[in-house]
Amino acid sequence: MANSTSKVDSEPRNAISVLLQLTRVLTEDPPLEEALRAITDAALCILPGDHASLRLLDAGNKALLCGARSGVGLDHRPITFKPGDGVMGWAVANGQSVRVDDTAADERFLFSSDQGFAVRSLLVEPLKSAGRVIGVLSVSAAAPHAFSDEDQLLCRLLANCSVPPNERARLERLAMTDDMTLAYNVRYMMPRLKEEIERARRNGLPLSVALMDLDHFKNVNDAYGHAVGDHVLRLFANEVRSHVRRIDVLVRRGGEEFLLIMPQTGTDQARAMADRIRQTLAENPLRIEDEGDIDDGLSIHQTVSIGVATWDGAEQAEALERRADAAMYASKTSGRDRVSVAPLPLPGSLARQSEDLSLPRGTW
Ligand code: GH3
Ligand code: MG
Ligand code: MG
Repeated sequence: MANSTSKVDSEPRNAISVLLQLTRVLTEDPPLEEALRAITDAALCILPGDHASLRLLDAGNKALLCGARSGVGLDHRPITFKPGDGVMGWAVANGQSVRVDDTAADERFLFSSDQGFAVRSLLVEPLKSAGRVIGVLSVSAAAPHAFSDEDQLLCRLLANCSVPPNERARLERLAMTDDMTLAYNVRYMMPRLKEEIERARRNGLPLSVALMDLDHFKNVNDAYGHAVGDHVLRLFANEVRSHVRRIDVLVRRGGEEFLLIMPQTGTDQARAMADRIRQTLAENPLRIEDEGDIDDGLSIHQTVSIGVATWDGAEQAEALERRADAAMYASKTSGRDRVSVAPLPLPGSLARQSEDLSLPRGTW
């Protein structure tokens, strides 16, 4: 790709038809990963690059996480940049597009030996929504001077195309996220549990859930006030997240109750996970720090009661949740700060049916 004339200069119709097809795909509202991949694929069709990536800023604006990649080097792990790191980070921090004709002569460029492909030319375009930078599109080539002014404009056009799917996904995420703990909210719980049961059925894999209820949480509010209580809920969610895998799903079912959905997990593994969470909490008081108006340095000993249930291979989501509820209740009545595992329902028993009302939900 050493030529400095882009494909698009020589084949303008091709660029237009690729862009037309891309906009058609994007209006069909595909899942975010597919939309982003369509954009990086299109970038390599119309620009003389050999690698394209779309990176999105995480919620805390601390890292540029890889959303999609196309071209060479896909067998290597994607690199995560921080805003400010490298040319990409510079574009994000400054909100400006960059074209580097020779990375060997640009001190912003961060060489990485485990990237898996050479980069001498680089186009980097920040993605902006309502004036805020939300990510970055980059296209690179192994040869220097690969990109023209027109290529830079096409890259900007593609970056602009990626903003609406990102924003739609962000709004969808917001609608199903609990603001306080950043866990999923209860609206998401049943649909997701049903989806995971369906997946477990299809793939013949186990699925377990853990219902977690903080012990005597009312006392925290009474002793320290609601703001400290809120903070304890946030710290608890962070603690759980630090133990679980990416495929696990943490939902705040309400108040101080959380449901952890663990796909591909049998009873023993689920019990072990639940017990790690319980034990960590029991042995390490939660420390309130950096909270401004509330007591910094406060340590709160907060325990949790957990009920684990493994999908029996046939029951409905509601029945699985109820068995987890019952197991959690057993942990409460037998002294709190413990994990109980629900017995599997007998074949044909009421617990398999969705209208079983043996234990009212959320009453403890
Ligand atoms: P148990 O061990 O039986 O679960 O006792 P508990 O005190 O945790 O249970 P109870 O259901 O009596 O009280 C739950 C408390 O959780 C009462 C409510 O004020 C508090 N709570 C619920 N949601 C929130 C919230 O968003 N923030 C704060 N700070 N407190 C909350
Ligand atoms: Mg409680
Ligand atoms: Mg409760």
